[in-house]
Amino acid sequence: MNDKYKIDLESLYRQVIMDHYKNPRNKGLVGWPHVHIKNPSCGDDITIEALVEDGVVKKIHHQGTGCSICCSSASVLSETLEGKTVEEANELIEEFFEMVKGKENPNEELEEALVYQGVAKFPARIKCATISWKALQRLLNGDEDE
Ligand code: ZN
Repeated sequence: MNDKYKIDLESLYRQVIMDHYKNPRNKGLVGWPHVHIKNPSCGDDITIEALVEDGVVKKIHHQGTGCSICCSSASVLSETLEGKTVEEANELIEEFFEMVKGKENPNEELEEALVYQGVAKFPARIKCATISWKALQRLLNGDEDE
């Protein structure tokens, strides 16, 4: 991969992240089971809600405040994992965690979430990228908030 291509790819990733930050998909809570997580180190504060029926993640909503990485990641998550079975969603969540820690050749089923590959170079931001995914993981494992 030459340097020019690499830079273009990074700017494309940045554009996708900024688009989800400015125009979040599936934002706003509707009263489904939820998990709330805070990341005190940078002020991220996210609640994830999911509608799970017949073992399928039908819909994911999110609400919260935080940095662009954190908020965009919740929006990307809500689109990427919608329609997956709980088992598939749990696998992709694990793959996402490994990818942001630097694993090469991540699972392409992560689709738009692949834009967070670059986060591996900024260890302080890994928490920002993963907070909403951790919240959904807890939710899918039955550890929901009251
Ligand atoms: Zn953050």
